Amino acid sequence: MTSSAKYIFVTGGVTSSLGKGIISASLGMLLQARGFTVTIQKFDPYINIDPGTLNPYEHGECYVTDDGAETDLDLGHYERFLNIRTSQANNITTGRIYNNVITKERKGEFLGKTVQVIPHITDEIKRNIYLLGESGKYDFIITEIGGSVGDIESLPFVEAVRQVRWDLGSNHSLVIHLTLIPYLKAAGELKTKPTQHSVKKLLEEGVQPDILVCRTEMPLPMDIRKKVGLFCNVQLNSVIEAIDADTIYDVPLLMRKEKLDERVLSKLKVHAKNEPDLEQWKDFLGKLKNPTDEIKIGLVGKYVSLPDAYKSIAEAFIHAGAENDAKVDLKWISSEEITKDTVKDVLGGLHGVLVAPGFGERGLEGKIAAIQYVRENKIPFLGICLGMQCAVVEFTRHVLGLDASSTELDPKTKYPVIDMMAEQKKITTKGGTMRLGSYDCKIKKGSKAAAIYGETLIHERHRHRYEFNNKYLEQIEEAGLKATGVNPDSGLVEIVELKDHPWFVGVQFHPELKSTVLNPHPLFVRFIEAALNNKKLNS
Ligand code: GLN
Repeated sequence: MTSSAKYIFVTGGVTSSLGKGIISASLGMLLQARGFTVTIQKFDPYINIDPGTLNPYEHGECYVTDDGAETDLDLGHYERFLNIRTSQANNITTGRIYNNVITKERKGEFLGKTVQVIPHITDEIKRNIYLLGESGKYDFIITEIGGSVGDIESLPFVEAVRQVRWDLGSNHSLVIHLTLIPYLKAAGELKTKPTQHSVKKLLEEGVQPDILVCRTEMPLPMDIRKKVGLFCNVQLNSVIEAIDADTIYDVPLLMRKEKLDERVLSKLKVHAKNEPDLEQWKDFLGKLKNPTDEIKIGLVGKYVSLPDAYKSIAEAFIHAGAENDAKVDLKWISSEEITKDTVKDVLGGLHGVLVAPGFGERGLEGKIAAIQYVRENKIPFLGICLGMQCAVVEFTRHVLGLDASSTELDPKTKYPVIDMMAEQKKITTKGGTMRLGSYDCKIKKGSKAAAIYGETLIHERHRHRYEFNNKYLEQIEEAGLKATGVNPDSGLVEIVELKDHPWFVGVQFHPELKSTVLNPHPLFVRFIEAALNNKKLNS
């Protein structure tokens, strides 16, 4: 290792869903606020090469980076908290590690050796740990290890962490273990035993945590902190309380109060240049917590029973709401609930409607009915990816009077206004084969999109196979649905907007992926503004 980057590992124990991603992102943000450069990576112990093929019901949203990697949704938190860009190097799975090792083996690169978990798999894990550090761009690399300590799958990762600690020593690496201190109502007590066991497990695997971050519903009294510290060989001031927060955006400030960043710097022997500058973050929190108005937005989608499936959209609304000093009350609506007969009841009273991205046919007619309703009733509308495609189908059906569809939903449709590109048709495998990552989009001057973005060349991220079929472009534009954003290289339509409607915009890309606390996405900000105007008009 030639670089001077410091490596921080975040492991988890006792249960999943303790919020390792948020703790990692909060720590990263605090270090960054002191003027350090930071990136965060996540190692996921499952065998899929990436989460792109996972059902959102199982794993939540698939987050796409600029370079077209399909990644875990925690990378979204990293980008939103740190206002940085991540890439494929920031998310590695067991599947990718094995794939790399097996590819090397087939090339004969192991020179006749027996290929084994230790050292070959752990070496490949370590190579990926060091990759970002070796770029020389970062002072700190935070590596979140997915899963819980004690899982069979995470063993090689914990072993790699043990080796990195040995290779680099304690001035250059550090382990934070996130654990749970449950409150037993019947006993009226906080219980430390699960934490003790989980640290014992980590010790069995050769890793002594330097800092314990303890999730808890109640404040941790001194005697509990002392007990945990004593049983787990962790200094008292390194037992950090992570109390349940109202919003994930409170967590950096809570970690600051508990001095997590100071403990990290002191253990890594890094001289803190400055106190963290948290002014902008606090401004955002102030607006988030003191809204002067409230609006109801409908999110129409297929996976609404698991809000994690639309994580970035929900967060983008939080950023955009705060920017407008408004609380966004998101109504999660299953598109299967919507028919021509129910649409008025379901959507009436909403100030804006977003039709979400998605795959497959289920609930499609509901999305189309929703779009017809908001188009005819002049309710602000934002369609994302499948949502935009549905808007094109709806418009062609009800304004042009053609029985149109997308070939994803009806391969035999007479009017395929949304269709697969020729090169996509040749692809037979599913993983990593969509149109993925950042593409340029040229915006027409004078359009609503130009006013929203304030510029005419933008870059947005994609994840889809189907496209607006340019064969119908002229006809659709003439009828009033304008293509105001187009990819300059391929001519593919990226943005459509309706004339004679207060705010009706469909985008083929995923703006939600680029919304951050410090840079709320303009499409969401303006959509909320339009919804607020709609509310004023109708009250
Ligand atoms: N299913 C559509 C496609 O593949 C839309 C995808 C999406 O909404 N992300 O083109």
